[in-house]
Amino acid sequence: MINIVLFGKPGAGKGTQAEFLKNQYKLVHISTGDIFRFNIKNATDLGKLAQSYMDQGDLVPDSVTIKMLEAEVEKNSAAKGFIFDGFPRTTTQADALDSFLSKKGMQITATIALEASDDQLVERLLKRGETSGRTDDQDEAKIRNRFEEYNQKTAPLQEFYSNQEKFYSVNGIGSIEEITTRLKNIIDRF
Ligand code: AMP
Repeated sequence: MINIVLFGKPGAGKGTQAEFLKNQYKLVHISTGDIFRFNIKNATDLGKLAQSYMDQGDLVPDSVTIKMLEAEVEKNSAAKGFIFDGFPRTTTQADALDSFLSKKGMQITATIALEASDDQLVERLLKRGETSGRTDDQDEAKIRNRFEEYNQKTAPLQEFYSNQEKFYSVNGIGSIEEITTRLKNIIDRF
């Protein structure tokens, strides 16, 4: 079983790459951002709760996010493995994921970061915002706040996974195919 965490700032290309990797390795792709957006679109209680945080570019509280993620893994009990995209984003989430997976006899195989500079990412996100309709991609102040959340809460996960010898990083700038190849070169070691 291969379980990959795709790591990186908003706009780094996690979702795009996850789409390719899930087909290549027959993995289930779980994007917590996509699940929240689905819930917002369908006006569920979870969506209503998440929206106020997402609109500001803040993280949704851990307890809500962890519960949602665990339910999503449970729904896919026959999966050959998972690509986690946008989760974990805090040390609390990473700890919860480790203990949840270990209870199921599973573990994270590798965490791979897609690296790009803030200025490159802002440019990408504003461009995506023109077509995606995502309000959190249309306002530079909100984008910068998401980076701030990342620096404060998510960046420490690099050390968390390095301590487990599971942290890898690749250059996130290049063509989609080039970046997929960089990721495959890491995943194929397992
Ligand atoms: P994304 O699509 O991954 O960029 O996520 C969009 C937004 O959803 C984030 O800015 C957060 O508000 C929320 N979100 C997604 N994943 C998480 C998570 N693991 N923890 C907390 N909030 C999250």
